[in-house]
Amino acid sequence: MTKPSKRIRAITGEGSDGWDLFYRAKDLIRQGVPVVELTIGEHDVRTDPAILDAMREAARAGATGYASIPGIPELRAAVAERVERVTGVATGPANVIVTPGGQAALYAAHQLVGDPGDRALHVDPYYPTYPGTIRAAGLVPVAVPARAEAGFEPVEADLMAAPEARSLLVNSPNNPTGVVYGEATLAGIARVAVARDLWVISDEVYDSQIWEGRHLSVRAWPGMAERCLVVGSLSKSHAMTGSRLGWIVGPAEAVELLWDLSTVSNYGIPGFIQEAGVFALAQGAAYEAGIAEPFRRRRGITQGVLAGQDVVRAAPQRGAMYALLDVRATGLTGEGFALRLLEEERIAVLPGESFGLASAGHVRVAMTVEDRAYEDALRRLVRLAGRIAAQRAHFPAELG
Ligand code: PLP
Repeated sequence: MTKPSKRIRAITGEGSDGWDLFYRAKDLIRQGVPVVELTIGEHDVRTDPAILDAMREAARAGATGYASIPGIPELRAAVAERVERVTGVATGPANVIVTPGGQAALYAAHQLVGDPGDRALHVDPYYPTYPGTIRAAGLVPVAVPARAEAGFEPVEADLMAAPEARSLLVNSPNNPTGVVYGEATLAGIARVAVARDLWVISDEVYDSQIWEGRHLSVRAWPGMAERCLVVGSLSKSHAMTGSRLGWIVGPAEAVELLWDLSTVSNYGIPGFIQEAGVFALAQGAAYEAGIAEPFRRRRGITQGVLAGQDVVRAAPQRGAMYALLDVRATGLTGEGFALRLLEEERIAVLPGESFGLASAGHVRVAMTVEDRAYEDALRRLVRLAGRIAAQRAHFPAELG
């Protein structure tokens, strides 16, 4: 083919990102090998038939033409109402633009915050698309570590000392760590943003999955409403990953600019999906709690299985559908351990290294199979780690 742009070639970056393991697991499954799949953050239930009925009815009633580009008024209003209820920040429909999922929202937000070559900060560990999303928008990603020893929360001094940049991307509840940022962390982020005149892109797609404390949005801190773009989505809160329905909430002027971007990219989201989104949001907070419930239970199972041993330790699991497990006591990297787990136990998890340097030596377990199978897989994971750690204690030289 004729030469493509450097920008598109640079999206995936260089080197292994640990997804090899994911494809290896998929290959095994294709060959008929039973593998317990704990890799991807997707519910083990499908979208509620009642939501699908709403989608079908909307389509049958004619919502199949071009839809309003920033989102149909009812959906913008419903998102504004939800964001205001969850975060306490005054929000109106003019603050909302509807996007094809949270991923497209992350991309659009980075298009808004900087010019080609500008730096964009993000916290490490991170959702693996972050650096590529930033590069696709023409910006240069710079990771700021949130270290295991600091409970995987970013430290104000590190953020303040990071290189000159236009924006900071944060994610709470966090994928992959399960950490929910506390008030002190969010206040620190807000102080840094104001002092350094940064945009903050706050990825809050897991805001309905909170196991301890409550969800706080950095947009609620003084001086933040005018510099904060909150990314949300129905993927996780309503088990609607395939519907591709998300949003950005921000200053009305920013929404006007994002509208221009939407006009030249997706040109709006299918009206029947937006109407299904209105129906889904109308089900309220109790419905969202029901969708989150299996993960809450499995978080309890995780804590039960890990109790009484100290080879495998979980990062603070305060939210989101994952357990980030520290397997450094085995002497293996996260990738090395994940490979042995796949080969020896036929359990697929993702290496912490796929999520950045700060989660090296960990594996991320998605709590996305039914309770008994989940518990059994986790027990086998812990037993394997125990065996490897015991061998290492006996033959330390051999294993290095
Ligand atoms: N942000 C985070 C932290 C995620 O984990 C995901 C998906 O797993 C997304 C954004 C994107 O979600 P979607 O595009 O389905 O809304």
